[in-house]
Amino acid sequence: MSEANEHVKCLIIGSGPAGYTAAIYAARADMKPVLYQGLQPGGQLTETTDVDNFPGYPDGVNGTAMMADLETQARRFDTDVRNGWATAVDFIGSVHRVEFDGGAHVVTADSVIISTGASAKWLGLESEQKFKENGGGVSACAVCDGFFYKGQDVAIVGAGDSACEEASYLAKLCNKVYMIVRRDQMRASRAMQNRVNGIDNIEVLYNTSTDEVLGDDTVTGVRVVNTSGEKHELEIQGFFVAIGHTPNTDIFKGQIDLDPEGYIIQAAPGTGATNIEGVFWSGDCADRTYRQAVTAAGSGCAAALDAERYLAAKGLH
Ligand code: NDP
Repeated sequence: MSEANEHVKCLIIGSGPAGYTAAIYAARADMKPVLYQGLQPGGQLTETTDVDNFPGYPDGVNGTAMMADLETQARRFDTDVRNGWATAVDFIGSVHRVEFDGGAHVVTADSVIISTGASAKWLGLESEQKFKENGGGVSACAVCDGFFYKGQDVAIVGAGDSACEEASYLAKLCNKVYMIVRRDQMRASRAMQNRVNGIDNIEVLYNTSTDEVLGDDTVTGVRVVNTSGEKHELEIQGFFVAIGHTPNTDIFKGQIDLDPEGYIIQAAPGTGATNIEGVFWSGDCADRTYRQAVTAAGSGCAAALDAERYLAAKGLH
């Protein structure tokens, strides 16, 4: 890794509710945090519409607006918010070194708070990837792309709370929504299942998997297969995938302890500690259980408080 351009007291990687909350706490504690936003400033909440379960918003709040507010709040206390994508880290030894944008900028830090979040999973079909790359009708974000299929027929794969939420959203815009569920039941909460079942233009296909997304330049259909091996085609114009997320932790492999799915291992339950001194976790990169904006924000607060105590104990703050 190239020479560092800069040394900071507190470096925050990521700009979801976890990162910005960590920044607010770190900045107010005079740790002069530098926050790099990553490729998707604001994180996953910028892909959603209304957030109805974040305390303090009795009428709900638009996800993008909420993240803009969090950024403004972090800047109000002089957080140095920057564009940039962490491409490599070196946590071996006492100095924590992070490279951004392939080495364009290298920062060393007394403390690092990782808030890199998680990304959508894909089925992995070649046809899915083709239409995803060419913008021909495959998406992992109903809220971002549902509008393009107004009045048309679409399908969504998945059976968790996300899939139910996105199917309900699509049902408001589209003529018909097929929900492709691989087992004979959904994983989603009872409340979300009831919501889906109460919507007339959603048809749930249980015991069904996706065989192929069909079409030349744009999606014209999907071939599905049921557990008896029978295949049939549905005529659709949009294909949505909502099958969960993968933590954005590739660059930390071999640097800090990750579980088999790539989530950062919480070294001391109830704290922001990782197995590396001075490096803390916050948000979905280490949370496979709750994955909510409010729990991400809470863990961002905890990480900043833990970082402050760490710096004080080392005589660095
Ligand atoms: P989940 O991991 O909960 O669900 C993923 C779903 O995708 C499962 O039903 C799974 O099927 C299915 N799936 C996975 N891989 C495939 C595949 N290859 N082919 C077909 N189906 C597949 O992810 P979510 O994103 O839905 O939710 C993540 C967390 O966020 C959860 O804790 C959820 O409760 C929470 N959440 C809460 C919301 C709210 O409260 N408003 C809204 C959205 C999310 P199977 O069941 O067979 O494994």
